[in-house]
Amino acid sequence: MATQQGAPSVPFLPDAIANELRLRLSPSARVRVDDAARLLYSRDCWPWLLIHTRAGRHSLRPPHAVVQPATIEDVQETIRMAAAHGLPVVPYGAGSGVTGAAVPTRGGLTVDLKRLTSLDLSLAGDGIARLGAGWVGGRLEHVLNRRGLTLGHFPSSIGCSTLGGWIATRSAGQLSTRHGKIEDRVLATRLVDANGDLRHVPTPHTDALPILVGSEGTLGVLVDADVVIEPLPRARRYRGFLARTVDEALDAMREVLQQGQRPAVLRLYDAFDTFISSARRATAGAAPSSDGLTRRLRAWIDRRVSVSEARRFALNAGAGLLRRTDMAPIALNRAADTLFDGCLLIAGVEEADDEHADASAADLFGLLGDRLDDLGTAPGDHWYAHRYDVSYKQSPAYDSGIFVDTMEVAASWDRLPHLHAAVRSALGDHVFVMAHFSHAYAAGCSIYFTFAGFGRDDDECLTIYARAWNAALAAAARSGGAVTHHHGVGLLKAAHLIDDHTGGGALFDRVKHAVDPDDRLNPGKLWHAPPFDEVRP
Ligand SMILES: Cc1cc2nc3c(=O)[nH]c(=O)nc-3n(C[C@H](O)[C@H](O)[C@H](O)COP(=O)(O)OP(=O)(O)OC[C@H]3O[C@@H](n4cnc5c(N)ncnc54)[C@H](O)[C@@H]3O)c2cc1C
Repeated sequence: MATQQGAPSVPFLPDAIANELRLRLSPSARVRVDDAARLLYSRDCWPWLLIHTRAGRHSLRPPHAVVQPATIEDVQETIRMAAAHGLPVVPYGAGSGVTGAAVPTRGGLTVDLKRLTSLDLSLAGDGIARLGAGWVGGRLEHVLNRRGLTLGHFPSSIGCSTLGGWIATRSAGQLSTRHGKIEDRVLATRLVDANGDLRHVPTPHTDALPILVGSEGTLGVLVDADVVIEPLPRARRYRGFLARTVDEALDAMREVLQQGQRPAVLRLYDAFDTFISSARRATAGAAPSSDGLTRRLRAWIDRRVSVSEARRFALNAGAGLLRRTDMAPIALNRAADTLFDGCLLIAGVEEADDEHADASAADLFGLLGDRLDDLGTAPGDHWYAHRYDVSYKQSPAYDSGIFVDTMEVAASWDRLPHLHAAVRSALGDHVFVMAHFSHAYAAGCSIYFTFAGFGRDDDECLTIYARAWNAALAAAARSGGAVTHHHGVGLLKAAHLIDDHTGGGALFDRVKHAVDPDDRLNPGKLWHAPPFDEVRP
């Protein structure tokens, strides 16, 4: 393959092949070999690569070309061309993945599926829609809502992620306690296989759907899916509750779920996340400002701590993180442990009408109110109104020189407190950490850690990032937790898959060999990825 002059020393698709591909595709499809496109599609939102990018190291292994098919036949032709020229194929949704799953490891053709936006609502009366895999969530909801319908899948990344990406990573939405994860919404899918053939899953004879969901582009390119849709709820009730401890609130959550209730939301913040959430509420509408947060921290400390020495220490510690002093994260986390107590639980129900909403709310809020302090509707309504805000504050954080990331793990209820303590402690040696519990089930719940770290320069940030993740993943495995709940595996967690699925590698190899013997589809992923800190541009 040729290399463009002045471009990164990676090959691009020779003109002859690019032109042949253009001829084979429909007129509105695009084949891009320009550096901008190839660099853009050489990463997703994985923070490890974002830090590298900030350091000026842009690309791991850019694709030879980026193909933007307009039809399913375009996808088929693209894969056939890739096969003819021995090129890998990497399916790409919106690149919002946070694990490097869509990052090419051997170049090839990256296939951006966002133009596949077919919409078949002929079975809407039966609660089924057939949707193109390229629908971006926010736009899809808008279109469905206009017809009084919803998919019920609301990830925080709803404005920048696709249906195909959700299915490929086993995504979870914010209201998953009521609607389930994406695997609970998908009934069937069509995919283009490694030979360019269109396949239906399931067939009357085999149901490969459970293997396909979460396969991260390694087994086929999803082109559309039959999903469960439902009428838009017309009545919502949200409230906030305050627990003294995480354990007290977890007990209440477990009881709700095991009674068979299906609230739209049960979202519990640990004490530090509760503090940050209250800071967010106080500064809602204002531009994000570390001064505002520091003021809140000062006010909190004034109310709760009488020893002036502790106040000074904690204030310096909190501000230290925000302003990049060299205060050790372990000290910051200990300060947070001492200063903050009280855990906010957001609870909500959504139903077809007021009568059902009132009945569900009476059950849910009655149980929670018996065990926790009822804070009224304001915290719940505020959470609902601002539920997508925090996800879009990542860029200013990176601009300021720190890094932020999130880690989602899950366990049965009995293991949850230990998992929380173990992962928090493992992360806490390296980064400043807080957590919330969401996506609750009768059997257990997921924990979502948010952490921030900093180093003297980007290389030190990378070292700290690697130490934090490796320690946290090992702690999750030791505590009997699943190392992923809804972000998928990608390059980040591949080396730790063995902790979740002993023997899974051999099973995956057999499936992969059967459907993609030349390892053409998103190679070097899932069981075949190296430890993530060996992945360097
Ligand atoms: C700010 C922010 C908030 C987030 N919040 C959430 C959240 O609340 N819940 C959640 O679950 N996730 C969340 N994520 C993670 C991310 O949005 C999900 O992993 C999402 O499912 C990725 O979708 P995508 O279309 O961007 O896929 P991409 O990142 O483009 O790809 C992800 C993987 O899916 C594969 N893939 C994509 N499309 C197809 C297809 N059509 N066929 C086959 N394989 C395909 C890719 O090859 C890759 O392996 C968040 C991310 C960010 C940046």
